[in-house]
Amino acid sequence: MTKTILTTCPYCGVGCGVNAVVDHSQRSVNIQGDKNHPANFGRLCSKGSALGETIGLKGRLLEPRINGREASWKEALDLVANTLLATLKQYGKDSVAIYGSGQLLTADYYVANKLMKGFIGNANIDTNSRLCMSSSVAGHKRAFGADTVPGCYGDFELADLIVLIGSNTAWCHPVSFQRIRAAKEANPQLKIVVIDPRRTATCDIADLHLPLAAGSDTSLFNGLLHYLAGLGQPTVNAEFIGQHTEGFNAALAAASGTDLGQVATDCLLDPTAVQQFFEWFAATDKVMSLYSQGVNQSTAGTDKVNAIINCHLATGRIGKPGMGPFSLTGQPNAMGGREVGGLAHQLAAHMDFSNPAEIDLVARFWHTDNIPSQGGLPAVVLFDAIYDGKVKAVWIMGTNPVVSLPDANKVKQALQRCEFVVVSDCIADTDTTALAHVLLPAQGWSEKNGTVTNSERRISRQRSLFGGAGNARPDWWIICQVARRMGFAKAFAFAHPVEIFREHAALSGFENHGQRDFDISAFADISLADYDAFQPVQWPVNAAHPKGTARLFADGQFFTASQKAQFIAITPRPPVNLPDADYPLILNTGRLRDQWHTMTRTALASKLNQHKPEPFVEVHPADAQRFGLTPNSLAVIASHWGEMIARVQVTDSQIPGNVFVPMHWTGQYASHGRMGALVNPVVDPISKQPECKHTPVRINSYPAVWHGFILSRQELAISSDHYWVKIKGDQFYRYELAGEHLPDSWQAWAQTQLAGDPQAHWQEYQDSSTGNYRAAQLMDGHLDSIVFIASHNNLPERNWLTTLFVKGELSPQERLALLTGKPPLGVADVGAIVCACFNVGETTLRSAIQTQGLKTPQEVGLCLKAGTNCGSCLPEIKALLG
Ligand code: SF4
Repeated sequence: MTKTILTTCPYCGVGCGVNAVVDHSQRSVNIQGDKNHPANFGRLCSKGSALGETIGLKGRLLEPRINGREASWKEALDLVANTLLATLKQYGKDSVAIYGSGQLLTADYYVANKLMKGFIGNANIDTNSRLCMSSSVAGHKRAFGADTVPGCYGDFELADLIVLIGSNTAWCHPVSFQRIRAAKEANPQLKIVVIDPRRTATCDIADLHLPLAAGSDTSLFNGLLHYLAGLGQPTVNAEFIGQHTEGFNAALAAASGTDLGQVATDCLLDPTAVQQFFEWFAATDKVMSLYSQGVNQSTAGTDKVNAIINCHLATGRIGKPGMGPFSLTGQPNAMGGREVGGLAHQLAAHMDFSNPAEIDLVARFWHTDNIPSQGGLPAVVLFDAIYDGKVKAVWIMGTNPVVSLPDANKVKQALQRCEFVVVSDCIADTDTTALAHVLLPAQGWSEKNGTVTNSERRISRQRSLFGGAGNARPDWWIICQVARRMGFAKAFAFAHPVEIFREHAALSGFENHGQRDFDISAFADISLADYDAFQPVQWPVNAAHPKGTARLFADGQFFTASQKAQFIAITPRPPVNLPDADYPLILNTGRLRDQWHTMTRTALASKLNQHKPEPFVEVHPADAQRFGLTPNSLAVIASHWGEMIARVQVTDSQIPGNVFVPMHWTGQYASHGRMGALVNPVVDPISKQPECKHTPVRINSYPAVWHGFILSRQELAISSDHYWVKIKGDQFYRYELAGEHLPDSWQAWAQTQLAGDPQAHWQEYQDSSTGNYRAAQLMDGHLDSIVFIASHNNLPERNWLTTLFVKGELSPQERLALLTGKPPLGVADVGAIVCACFNVGETTLRSAIQTQGLKTPQEVGLCLKAGTNCGSCLPEIKALLG
């Protein structure tokens, strides 16, 4: 018996609706896009499509644990509550903290904030969303008086110019990217400009790419403002500026020196390209400016946001169909976190500590007199306080700061020093759970029940597909249980997430009178049946807008005291840490197409591990030559804060002097892959968002004396004194290896690493003069494991060998070919996987393009199906066609 349940994807801020066909007897699920969900209309990207592969129980945290041993919920909850109380009593209010996540559902987030800010009485609760979009929050607040995203996804189809700034939308918000691609195909007049130091997959649909110097965005948009003002009316909307804004002259004065030539100099751009962008922006009424982490993750992040908004205010292009600034949110519920005050300076329902009247309002609503008078410690400062011993107890929920925060080695040391570390997570073994005194098993995506809010303010339900695995519980339940034990039973008597949602909705409408943007008071009395049947809707949802609100600011009224939008005078400033002789390159970091955050879930899906299986560093050819790096070799990237090792990809998609590494690898999947260890811990002075896009680094060849790989049916305990990366495949694990020292005997080394069955049949080949060693273990004619070692990194392709693990008994030809690493004559190797949905590799694509004369992605799709499901690989298919 199967059952169809509508829910929401747990990964990025696009917030796609998912149609899950659940088989409870098998604990399995078939995943499709929800055709009626307005965020995706049935589309899903590769990550969303693979959700069904991530719901298994392997690796789950299923019971509470105290110092490594299993414990009952009662013992664990009593310990957490009593230790927090004892810490507060001994060290004072500021000695405890919570660090949350944009993965939490809104109900979880609400009670965590209520507990800390309303009842424990300090505001030391921050979230990994600080790393994602706090500069957008701060920019919105400065310009609009509230953290409001003005537009909606429907504007993509109405725009005539879409400017993508610091956003690899194709990989980070793939369904929005597909929607923009479709809009461009339907409307050839729609122009796309990509502003990014890297030439990313997003440039696949760009009419113009501006590879600006890292961190120079404020100069570019100051220059645009200056240019627009120079054109005068009607490009500049004097009526809108006069009636609905303040500060135009000051903003213009700050931008006065930035003529075209100056912009080209500051941004290291071709002046003709800058002029083209300015002309298009000036001449197009329906302009959308979409921005993401390349804007936010910067020491000038808030200024970048406001420099972009300034240009929309100057032209009056806001609040109307097809136009406006639009922040693409990273996480599935970063917006829900903002609604409940997830950041340390915020209060619930879009109020904050800067306004005593709002503190009073929330205190009266919660019936507490314990709300602090000021905000708490933002993420980077919070972990510094833990390191310094000022915060003695921390509760981390659904996030992995030992990997993701800047200066991650210091974060690790901070938790090692901390007297009491509690971690709630659905995964047992992460770099952060390894440091916890108490582990609390939280329910995972397929078990949780609540709401999330996407980038366009749309609230959607995330619904349980299965009951909680093992003894896992919902985060809201865990938090309420601790709160009750701390003496706050009345305020945390919730028995179901709908009760929390009602209170959250009621607070949003409490004494609001239209003064606060976030208002979902229409749901203050929602019944359980209506909550269960909840349809996706964009806030505000209140008596005036019972069906939600697609766009705000159409009336030119903003949430500032004067009800006018504020221009912000921007003075461009360079990033805080600049390259020097010791660290001559700029490190940029970001996401990959098929992985999410620290891989705790996406790495469980073998098809998602095929696209980019190993940590890599993208280096411009000139820098590769300068630093003696060859393609596919290993390099050590070092900053003042730490180092990592990654596979070199030489590419002119980088500008000289810049390198890029992905953000995902952890200590669970790679020996030296944590990019957070390198990243400088400087933050934006206003938003406190860390600078993840600009760390000075140096790069050198990794002095490996041997390279190799192992494919094994069993997961192996690879020793950690050399470079290793673990990749889960379909019925095998792949280990990429390299080392600086040779073992005494490769044969003995292989016996130890593979730990095979004594009954296994071995094939072996060794040439000690060249350093080559190859061995395979077969059980009953099936391939069990295989190892290749060489003194160089020019080893056979892995793809054909990996396909042998899903086969039954090997044929005599395959057994003969095994140690050559190449398929027998007449058998094709698919090559590196490009299309994860249909497992189509680069070799297959190249061959079909050549032999069948394929000219377009559509022809490739018809021939091989590649690119016809989620479309995430279309940029790569187009590159191969090119
Ligand atoms: Fe999930 Fe992909 Fe949609 Fe993002 S774009 S919500 S990752 S399916």
